[in-house]
Amino acid sequence: MSEIHKFLFEGLPVRGVLVRLTDAWTEVLRRRAANTSHGAYPRPVQNLLGEMTAAAMLMQSCIKFDGALVLQIFGDGPVKLAVVEVQPDFGVRATATVHGSVRDDASLSQLVNLGNAGRCAITLDPQNRQPGQQPYQGVVPLFGDAHEKLEKISDVLQHYMLRSEQLDTLLVLASDAQLAAGLLIQRLPMLGSGNLAGTQAANEDEIGINEHYNRIALLAASLQREELLTLDVDAILHRLFWQEDLRRFEPLQGTRGPHFSCTCSRERVSKMLIGLGADEAHAIVQERGEVEVGCDFCGQQYRYDAVDVIRMFHQPGATPPASNAVQ
Ligand SMILES: [Zn+2]
Repeated sequence: MSEIHKFLFEGLPVRGVLVRLTDAWTEVLRRRAANTSHGAYPRPVQNLLGEMTAAAMLMQSCIKFDGALVLQIFGDGPVKLAVVEVQPDFGVRATATVHGSVRDDASLSQLVNLGNAGRCAITLDPQNRQPGQQPYQGVVPLFGDAHEKLEKISDVLQHYMLRSEQLDTLLVLASDAQLAAGLLIQRLPMLGSGNLAGTQAANEDEIGINEHYNRIALLAASLQREELLTLDVDAILHRLFWQEDLRRFEPLQGTRGPHFSCTCSRERVSKMLIGLGADEAHAIVQERGEVEVGCDFCGQQYRYDAVDVIRMFHQPGATPPASNAVQ
């Protein structure tokens, strides 16, 4: 079961989140693999998208915002676009556009930053956007401070959080074919609503606030990819923070937790085909034997054979004969 676990370090301005996406992530991969025009992702692309999915879930769980969080990479290598969208109820969908072949050992920059033009964007799109209102978007290149190419998506996002949000953040991300998982540790701002202690500090170094964050971040950074993929939440938190005073919150799982969600449906595709017109739909069936429409976002394919098309246009309300259409 997919789950989000939030925790605080008692008395310290440091918080953490651990996510493990199982069914929510495997459904992303299942739909893609079942798509007859694309097929499954090459392994390095699958890993990148899995880490992005875990990261987007971590970020959505940290912000108080009623809208979708969209994490995108615009690549200039074989991966042209990788997108993850997480809704406020933790519904998630993800996709990547891959052109050409991908080597099995391709690095992040070989996938998306070959000509130094790759970009990472984070968009916050309000649920009830007013006419003319633009969603908030932050964009960062895939380089570090010394203009070195970043080779981990976690480094790109840590950089983004520090530069755009002034938040010290540590991320550990990992994914395979069964699981997308991530750990986030963040220093809470001393001023504003995130300030748990309610105190003001002129110099956070002076009062030792950074010292606590630095110690905890160092512990978190020791988490290995294999551990993140194989240990359960209790084991991971114990392994890293057994000497710390942790306050854990009720996990978000089941109906309140992360789940796969795409807005496509057979009904919506049918409406679109009806809009196309009977002549056009029949012509496609005549030419190809069926009408096939794939969802751009999740890869789900919807198929209509001749009987489906006749039923759609000519027999409103009638009981249709059984068809062998695959959904
Ligand atoms: Zn879809």
